[in-house]
Amino acid sequence: MINIPKLLENKEKKFALFLNKHRCGGCNVCIMVCPTGILEASDELNMRISYIPRVKEGKAQYCTGCRRCEYGCPDWALYVLEEKNENHNGAEKATT
Ligand code: SF4
Ligand code: SF4
Repeated sequence: MINIPKLLENKEKKFALFLNKHRCGGCNVCIMVCPTGILEASDELNMRISYIPRVKEGKAQYCTGCRRCEYGCPDWALYVLEEKNENHNGAEKATT
């Protein structure tokens, strides 16, 4: 199973930003479109010999989950996933 690393996680708002790092072409679009300016190029090269983005130190909390990085990425490398509400216990279905 492929493990896609989380760039950040917001436990309060229940979402996480993932980077499928070997898809990244290093175009920096995500860095340019992020309205809060929390992304930067890292010094890590991937299999495409591209420098992948990372979250600036101490800035993860400022991610709003707006998905502009996800929509702007031409390589489908970044995406925001919301955590599902886990309060389902399977016993809620009323069939009277
Ligand atoms: S989801 Fe929005 S705020 Fe968060 S890193 Fe992407 S563009 Fe920036
Ligand atoms: S927009 Fe996508 S391909 Fe471009 S640097 Fe960001 S993650 Fe990599």
